[in-house]
Amino acid sequence: MTTTDKIWMDGELVDWDDAQVHVLSHSLHYGLGVFEGIRCYRCDDGSSAVFRLDDHARRLRDSAHILSLDCPWSQDEIATACLDTIKANGLKECYIRPLLYLGEGEMGLAATSNKVHLSIAVWPWGAYLGDDAIKNGIRLKTSSLQRYTVNSFMTKAKATGQYINSILASREAANSGYDEALLLDVDGFVAEGCGENLFMARGGRVKTPNIATVLEGITRDTVITLLRDQGVDLVEERFTRDEIYIADEAWFTGTAAEITPIASLDDRKVGPGKPGPITKALQETFFAVIRGKQPSYEHWLTRVPS
Ligand SMILES: *Cc1c(COP(=O)(O)O)cnc(C)c1O
Repeated sequence: MTTTDKIWMDGELVDWDDAQVHVLSHSLHYGLGVFEGIRCYRCDDGSSAVFRLDDHARRLRDSAHILSLDCPWSQDEIATACLDTIKANGLKECYIRPLLYLGEGEMGLAATSNKVHLSIAVWPWGAYLGDDAIKNGIRLKTSSLQRYTVNSFMTKAKATGQYINSILASREAANSGYDEALLLDVDGFVAEGCGENLFMARGGRVKTPNIATVLEGITRDTVITLLRDQGVDLVEERFTRDEIYIADEAWFTGTAAEITPIASLDDRKVGPGKPGPITKALQETFFAVIRGKQPSYEHWLTRVPS
C-alpha cells in the first residue's frame, strides 16, 4: 500500500513507522474493535471534501457503544481529527480509516481497565474492486458462508472481529474466480456483500434488504435518499438470490465500493450482464454529489481546511 507521512494516534500525529501497538493489545487477540471507512474526494473547485464525515464519526461512536467500548472522543473531536490527519499528509483525495481498539493490560475477556485507543490513518485508495468493476460490473458468487445471525454478532456495529466472516467469504469467492461474494442471512435470504450493501431493480421497483441482518451502510442511505428524491419506487424488504437472477439490474454500495454494478450472480447474467440505466444514472449522480457538483446535497460534504 502507499504509505503516508503521519498517523493520528490518541491525539498525536506520529510518523507512519512509529504508529505501533503492543502485542498484548486486547483487540488484537479477540477482535473487539470498531472502525470506519471514509472517503475524501477532490472537488471540481479544487478543494477537498470528506463525504458524510459526521455520519461516519457518529457510527464509530455507536459501534463502540454497542460493544461497550468507552469512546473517550466526541463525534466532533473524531471528525476534526480526521480533517487534521488529511491536512497533515497533504492529500487531496484519500481513504480514511479510524480504528478504536482496546490496549494492553488485562488479558481476560471481561477486561475493564484497558485503555481505549483511537488511531486514524489516511492513504490514497482508488476504486476498491477496480476501475473496470465500476465501469463494467462484477461477477458475484453466493457464498457457502452465511452472514452471522443477529444474536451471534451485533449487526449494527462495524466491528473488526466481524470481518472474519467477510474475509472467509471474500477469499472463497476469489479462489473460485469471482470478484466478490454474496452472503445470505441464516434464513437463506439475501443479506449483503463482504463490505457492501446490495440493491436490485426489477420492473421499475428498487429493492434492498431491510437493516435487520445487514450493516446500516452510509452509502446505502445515500442511495436510498437519492432515489427517493428522484421519485423512484424503493422498498426495504427480504428477497431471495434467484430474484437477483431475474432482476433487471443490481449493484453494490459502500464507501470502498462506491456504486459497483453487478454483472452476474452465480454465473447467471443480471439483466443484460452490464450496468443498467438506473445503476448508471445513480453512479453519475453519486459522483457529481461527492465532487461538490450538486448544491442540494452540499450538506453531506465537509471541506478540508486548506
Ligand atoms: C462498511 C460496510 C458496508 C458499507 O457501509 P458504508 O457506510 O456505505 O461504507 C456494508 N456492509 C458491511 C458489512 C460493512 O462493514
